Amino acid sequence: MIGKEEFWDDIKNELSKTMQTISYDMWIEPLEPVCFVDGTFVLAAKTAISKKTIERSYLDQIRDVASSLDSFVTDVEIIVKEQEGEYLKKQSISLPDRGLIVDEKSAKKQEKKTNPFLEKYTFDTFVQGKSNEFALAAAKTVAENPGGKYNPLFIYSGVGLGKTHLLHAIGNFLFKHSPKTKVVYANSENMVNELINVIRGGNNDDSNRFREKYRACDVLMIDDIQFLSGKNSMQEAFFHIFNDLYQSNKQIIITSDRAPKDLPTLEERLRTRFSWGLMVDIQPPDTETRIAILKMKAAHEKFMLSDEVAEFIADNATTNIRDMEGLLNKIIFFSSLANKVIDTKELAYEALRDFIDEKKETLDAETIISTVCRYFSITTTDIFSKKRTKNIVEPRMIAIYLITELLSMPLMSIGQLFGGRDHTTVIHARDKITEEIKTNPRIKIIVADLKNMLLNR
Ligand code: ADP
Ligand code: MG
Repeated sequence: MIGKEEFWDDIKNELSKTMQTISYDMWIEPLEPVCFVDGTFVLAAKTAISKKTIERSYLDQIRDVASSLDSFVTDVEIIVKEQEGEYLKKQSISLPDRGLIVDEKSAKKQEKKTNPFLEKYTFDTFVQGKSNEFALAAAKTVAENPGGKYNPLFIYSGVGLGKTHLLHAIGNFLFKHSPKTKVVYANSENMVNELINVIRGGNNDDSNRFREKYRACDVLMIDDIQFLSGKNSMQEAFFHIFNDLYQSNKQIIITSDRAPKDLPTLEERLRTRFSWGLMVDIQPPDTETRIAILKMKAAHEKFMLSDEVAEFIADNATTNIRDMEGLLNKIIFFSSLANKVIDTKELAYEALRDFIDEKKETLDAETIISTVCRYFSITTTDIFSKKRTKNIVEPRMIAIYLITELLSMPLMSIGQLFGGRDHTTVIHARDKITEEIKTNPRIKIIVADLKNMLLNR
């Protein structure tokens, strides 16, 4: 990997092409590169206020550019310049969501342990609703009694629905109530990178250290296990760690973007093990819960959120809480920037107009299906039918893929639309076309053509 200065220069160069000059000069230029911690690139802002603004409004963009320049970099973090020294000292502890939290060194230094979990993600800040109550209850039980009856605990849901939040809540709870418990949090993507390095290095010490690190814990959390799909050596390593921990009654908690049975390239023996414990899913929250979440986040920011604006935001982000928070943050940012109260739907719309992708909103499943049918010269009756000939199956899969890509429609409803097929069929079609795009130039072109037709109507 190149040095932090050069890397930051490259990022700035990219950002300057897309950002407005004023914002670029004001927020980006003064940042200074600090270091890389695992896959996280750390930058220092001059003041806490600029840190906050950058996090609210530019972090996503910086992160996207950083990972497009170097796929090893999965996250970007902003710290305040003043705290740089302290931060660098703490570096032996990796940060949440980007790899291991407790390594052997820090585990030994338990007396001086700092809480590595994000403090804002607790059970108290997790709003309970019908869609998540089982997952929340299971997480609480596990936090109170790790290694007890729900082992392993497997939590699955779409993106941005609170899985990582719940893992941190368990971590925070244990840190407070049972500080001796050794908790290891790993993001499976980072775990994979780590193991690849171990294998490449071919060094036995490294490989032992890797195993020890994961085995010497009371609670092991693996976030986003789907990244292990198809990675056989990694699954093998994980399988052994899993068995060791399980046999000694250590708690294992796993999250994934789908149920184990829908992880097609996950080894059967792992899938079987996951089903030994408890599996819970989190559904997208209903309007009431979304509004409650918004109110809580706004109160936390000391922002007066009117009912009207809360409703407006909740209506515009229905399937991903992270996106919904993004909209709220933009409202907060605009009202502080313009020093103006945004308390009606109209004002909220004005502030968010650029972010609510209108094309996406007006695009619907019918349009996608009819466009695909036209493209392949088949009828809509054919595409909805049970016919399994190639000339029908391929357009059907592509249509399903495009719907999952371009709309935020629940997988089950997509299945229903296509003649009552279940959501596994939808996942299969989506994954198949995703794969084909990488390996089959013809499909790649077809999908690009169709996307072009749909998004530039
Ligand atoms: P996932 O890991 O499932 O992709 P996260 O745990 O990262 O999702 O959640 C995304 C964001 O949504 C976080 O900021 C989290 O705090 C918030 N969030 C999700 N569900 C809830 C909830 N029930 N109450 C409060 N905040 C939530
Ligand atoms: Mg997550």
